[in-house]
Amino acid sequence: MFGRGPKKSDNSKYYDLLGVSKTATEDEIKKAYRKAAIKNHPDKGGDPEKFKEVAQAYEVLSDAEKREIYDQYGEDALKEGMGGGGGMHDPFDIFQSFFGGSPFGGGGSSRGRRQKRGEDVVHPLKVSLEDLYNGTMKKLSLSRNVLCSKCNGKGSKSGASSKCSGCRGAGMKVVTRQIGPGMIQQMQQVCSECRGSGETINDKDRCPQCKGEKVVPEKKVLEVAVEKGMQNGQKLTFPGVADEAPDTVTGDIVFVVQQKEHQKFTRKGNDLFVEHTLSLTEALCGFQFVLSQLDGRQLLIKSGPGEVVKPDQYKAVDDEGMPMYQRPFMKGKLYIHFTVKFPDSLGLEQVKALEAVLPPKPQFQLTDMELDECEETTPHDVNIEEEMRRKQAQAQQQAYDEDDDDDMHGGGAQRVQCAQQ
Ligand SMILES: [Zn+2]
Ligand SMILES: [Zn+2]
Repeated sequence: MFGRGPKKSDNSKYYDLLGVSKTATEDEIKKAYRKAAIKNHPDKGGDPEKFKEVAQAYEVLSDAEKREIYDQYGEDALKEGMGGGGGMHDPFDIFQSFFGGSPFGGGGSSRGRRQKRGEDVVHPLKVSLEDLYNGTMKKLSLSRNVLCSKCNGKGSKSGASSKCSGCRGAGMKVVTRQIGPGMIQQMQQVCSECRGSGETINDKDRCPQCKGEKVVPEKKVLEVAVEKGMQNGQKLTFPGVADEAPDTVTGDIVFVVQQKEHQKFTRKGNDLFVEHTLSLTEALCGFQFVLSQLDGRQLLIKSGPGEVVKPDQYKAVDDEGMPMYQRPFMKGKLYIHFTVKFPDSLGLEQVKALEAVLPPKPQFQLTDMELDECEETTPHDVNIEEEMRRKQAQAQQQAYDEDDDDDMHGGGAQRVQCAQQ
């Protein structure tokens, strides 16, 4: 039946690995594997190579057909695919199907190589500028999936599941469809029967708690420490608390600081900016005003004696900006940007009074004769931005019209030429 001649070499290694005799019963082999697998599991500090060999030995010796081939022809015969079913299975799979859940307790978080990493969940964390100045604690309630405690994330009462017949366990299906004469499109689709999991659970065996979903939603409250001086966009990571899923390393929950706009202050790095409008009198004769700082302190801001503030001028107060992250005793600057509101017009009396106190106007150096020769003008107010925009639009329209003219001239010249011929 087998292509090669009988070989009597090396057919005791598997028995030795499990520490059983060649006449061991099925039960004895099972018991031996249980002991050896737990002892050599990498999660318990065992040697992964030994763990693999033990699993291999068990896979062969627990299968009557394979065991017979092994007894007669040795390991090589199996490796050549004579045992049917091709290569060996993943030792972690063998372990998993033998024990069901994890024999070590806990949510079955064994470190199998085939474990994939779950996705991180990112949430924006809206924080006020006050919170970033003072620091605060935020409690956030989130809903996440956890492995079902009733079935240990198996989805079934017995712990069994079978390969999905729709996709033969792949989770994906290739569907072909004709999109035209002789043209066929091939597409990969998530299997609809198992929704991509590759396995199905018998209706009767379905876990009543999770309905076979393997996970159940759970509310979790996270306490997030918003520290002084944190920046917009800064991330706060809670490792391994995102959605749980079977055979998956749980991802992180990540909060991203989103600084809310403040009605008074603007923040640039560790500096704060505030706008303040002065009347002309304040700009010329001095001002003072009270500014509420982000921690509620009242800051008195005032000009020095005789000081004049010009429109668009800035002033800075040291150490009244934002605290620096993780060095909260150091602070940035507070910048004040001044706008000066001028009166729209003045009465004649006011003009006289001002002229009396302000520095004199430049002298008008023309004689009456020369003045007579001048033409008088009346300048009016303009909104200069509006004016410039209108002029640009006009210029564009003109360029367009000229292009049109050129075309007409060209056509005309050609017509003339034709007539001459
Ligand atoms: Zn399927
Ligand atoms: Zn369940």
